[in-house]
Amino acid sequence: MPTPPPLVHITGQTHDVAIDLIYAGADNFTGQVIYAHALCFLHPQAEACLRKAIAAARGLGFRLKILDAFRPQEAQEALWAVAPNPDYIADPKKGSNHTRGVAVDLTLIDAQGQALDMGTPVDTMSPASHHFHAAHPAAVQVNRMMLLTVMLEAGFVHHPREWWHYQLPDAQRFALIDSHAFMACVPAVENHAFHRLPDSP
Ligand SMILES: [Zn+2]
Repeated sequence: MPTPPPLVHITGQTHDVAIDLIYAGADNFTGQVIYAHALCFLHPQAEACLRKAIAAARGLGFRLKILDAFRPQEAQEALWAVAPNPDYIADPKKGSNHTRGVAVDLTLIDAQGQALDMGTPVDTMSPASHHFHAAHPAAVQVNRMMLLTVMLEAGFVHHPREWWHYQLPDAQRFALIDSHAFMACVPAVENHAFHRLPDSP
């Protein structure tokens, strides 16, 4: 039996989600393009929970917009180099739950594709990003609560300091996924895009 691929490819077509990976462009807190691709992957167990969240969001009249999912170790090192703040970024020596494929950063969008007001942009490293931060108006609290409810119901747990980040419970039980295993999941037609990753030995 061949080993199953460690990650599932998620697209707008296969999952009825919007995907706008913030590290695939320069419009993120680093001001740099971190990913040489805009492909979205999750561990199969996280992907199964995501499908439940997608259905629950649809029931509220919204869709999910994924901002980050699987994150290669090289990318984690690049983020840490810019912002070595363990409250918001996992030390790459310990590994990020995004590199385990079981964490996802996301928000809700309405029928027009407009993101709901969550009070801060994604990756804002301040108390304003914390769940139930008292300074936000009720509408923002409700928007965050809808995302929270949808994700908890689907089997994820939240991160108290980041309204956008959800992950599987006990995420550390999942292994870090190295970039060569990840490459095996990338459709061949996209493989040429990974020039930032080292060549196979
Ligand atoms: Zn995250």
